[in-house]
This record gives sequence, structure tokens and C-alpha cells, in this order.
Amino acid sequence: MKVPFADLHLQYLSLKEEIDAAIASVIRSSAFIRGPFVQTFEDEFSAAVGAPYCISCANGTDSLFIAMRALGVRPGDEVITTAHSWISTTETISQAGGNVVFCDTDALTHTIDPVQIEAKITARTVGIIPVHLYGQPADMTAIMAIARKHGLWVIEDCAQSHLAEIDGQIVGSFGDVASYSFYPGKNLGAMGDAGAITCKDKSLADRMAMFARHGGLSKGDHQIEGINSRLDGLQAAILSVKLPRLREWTAKRQALARRYMSALKDIDWVELPETAAGRSHVYHLFVIKHERRDALAAHLKHAGIQTVVNYPISLPFLPAYERLGHRPEDFPNAFGNQSKILSIPIFPEMTDAQLLYVADTIRGFAE
Ligand SMILES: *Cc1c(COP(=O)(O)O)cnc(C)c1O
Repeated sequence: MKVPFADLHLQYLSLKEEIDAAIASVIRSSAFIRGPFVQTFEDEFSAAVGAPYCISCANGTDSLFIAMRALGVRPGDEVITTAHSWISTTETISQAGGNVVFCDTDALTHTIDPVQIEAKITARTVGIIPVHLYGQPADMTAIMAIARKHGLWVIEDCAQSHLAEIDGQIVGSFGDVASYSFYPGKNLGAMGDAGAITCKDKSLADRMAMFARHGGLSKGDHQIEGINSRLDGLQAAILSVKLPRLREWTAKRQALARRYMSALKDIDWVELPETAAGRSHVYHLFVIKHERRDALAAHLKHAGIQTVVNYPISLPFLPAYERLGHRPEDFPNAFGNQSKILSIPIFPEMTDAQLLYVADTIRGFAE
């Protein structure tokens, strides 16, 4: 049996008629840039996540950058974020002119440890970017309390956490801005690059839209110098077909995760993902931990099972951040986990037989 890490083609086949029709209607109306398909998706996504404003843009990395430029990050400003994420979270801080300040993850959830945030706050700190990594929300209650106490803005990086919740409240609704990616492999994925920013504040929404659209809200209007970051009509129409399925796909991911948990629970030499109380995990990734991770990955690969490491080197230890001079003991959790984490297949179209095969193959690693 072969188990891919994800199967985007199967997802397309399940919606083929609708997606093909949506693409054809964009082509028929030549609504390639902005226009009705983009507007419709922005409205639908706003409604789906319960956010008053949604600004679509070219990708999830741009959404972080646009948010920081609109929030007014200035040279020398410090932004605190997690040591364990995809580099978009931090390269955009630098691109916006700020300085990246890393904080370790907690011992269980791979998300930023709020207990360690306050010690990192200085007179130059302007904001915090928690990442709901792998699909599990960060501890937003604690993070928002710190942000309010110190007058800091918060951008939630929701690229991996569409529809995740904390005590029934959806992620992205806690902070000032939520940033989304619709990269094809994300829980809601386009057929190319796509992203969006949501927020509650009209003037912030206008500043973000203005910056993303050459510094103006209408053609010919340029209040400031901006960038060109647009969702195109084809991607918007495809996302509008997929969005109504997101809830069902999320439930499927959660059911698969429960199935993995019960199939693997008696294997005491594999650490299973942990979810903190009150948080709903949407399992963008199902990440296990093992001391001999590379050998386990090779064993699975040999059996036809694809795995990925998200991410093999924590951000502070990448060559890109060598200038900060960090050592492993600065971020013991992120550093300790980077050699153990292994993402095993989880995707809505995954069959029970595939899941049991993965679980059995993991079990066979000990023998
Ligand atoms: C995917 C991702 C992004 C960026 O998204 P792109 O659309 O690929 O630019 C940002 N942050 C995190 C945590 C991500 O996983």
C-alpha cells in the first residue's frame, strides 16, 4: 500500500464538476483580477470565521507583511514570536523593518509559551505573533492578557489553523489581525498561492487594503506607496467551491486524529500530539515524536508511507538568524523537539485502511 502525505488530486476529483465550472465562469467573464469572484470569496470567508473585515491577498506570507506595515512597525521595533514556525512568520517582521525576538514553545503544544513572553518585553516591543502551529491554538487568553497589560498589538498566524477554537471561540478573533494562507496543502487550499487577512477594526482594514493595493483604495488613488498583493479571480472562485466543505474536512481530520490516537496509544516509545484543555485542534499536521526520528521516517518511507518534518531546524538556529547568536539552551523545547518531530499523513480523503497501515507500520518499527 502507498500512503501519500496528502492527496490534493483526490480532493479535486471529489469537486471536479464544481471546480471546472467555477474556473470556466471566471474565464468566461474575464474577471481575473479583483472583481466579483474575489469580492464574493472575501464576504464568504468573513462570514465563515466571523470577522467583520476580510482583505484577500496573494499569499499567507504577504498577509503577515501587510498586517505589520498597516500596524506601523518602524525600524528598531521588536516583535515577539515563537521559535518554532515556518519562516514566513519571522522574515516578514524583518521585512516590515522590525527586529525578531524569539520565545520558546511550551513543553506540550509546540506553540509559544506565554509564561516566557513577559521576560522578552522591552521598551521597544510593539507586538506579539502567536502561531497556531500544526492546527492547535496557542494560549490566546494568556497572550491577550499580556498584550493588553503592555499595550501591544497581536497578529494571530492562522495559516495552519482554519476554524480551530479555544473554549468555543474561533482563532483569529482574539488578536488585532488574523493572517491566513490558502497554499494548496493548507486545510483550505487554492490551486496556487492565496492568502487573506481578517480584522475587526475598519480603519485598520482600510490601511491593510490600501497597502496591499498600491497605496490606494480606488484606481488612480495613491495615498502612500504600497505593494501589489492580490488574490486572483480563478483562485477566489476555487476557494468559494471549497469553503463550504471546510467544516466537514476539519471534522474528518479530527476523526482521523482520534483514530490514530487509539491505534497508537499502547506504543509507549512514540509520543503522540497533546492538546491543551479547552483548545480544539484542527490537525493541519499530525506530529508524533521519536528519539530515532530519521530511522522511523526511513522505515515508513520503505513501506510506501510519506512523511515530512515540520520543521527540521527551529527558526533561531537557521543560517538566516545566525546574526542573533542564539544557542540551543536559549530555546530548549524548540531545540529538543526539532530532532524528534515527524509529521505522518493526515488528510480528509485518507481511508481507514491507510491509517491502520500507517499505525501498523509504526508498530513494526520496534521489531
Ligand atoms: C504556510 C504558512 C505561512 C505562509 O503562507 P504562504 O501562503 O505559503 O505564504 C505562514 N505561516 C505559517 C505558520 C504557515 O504554515
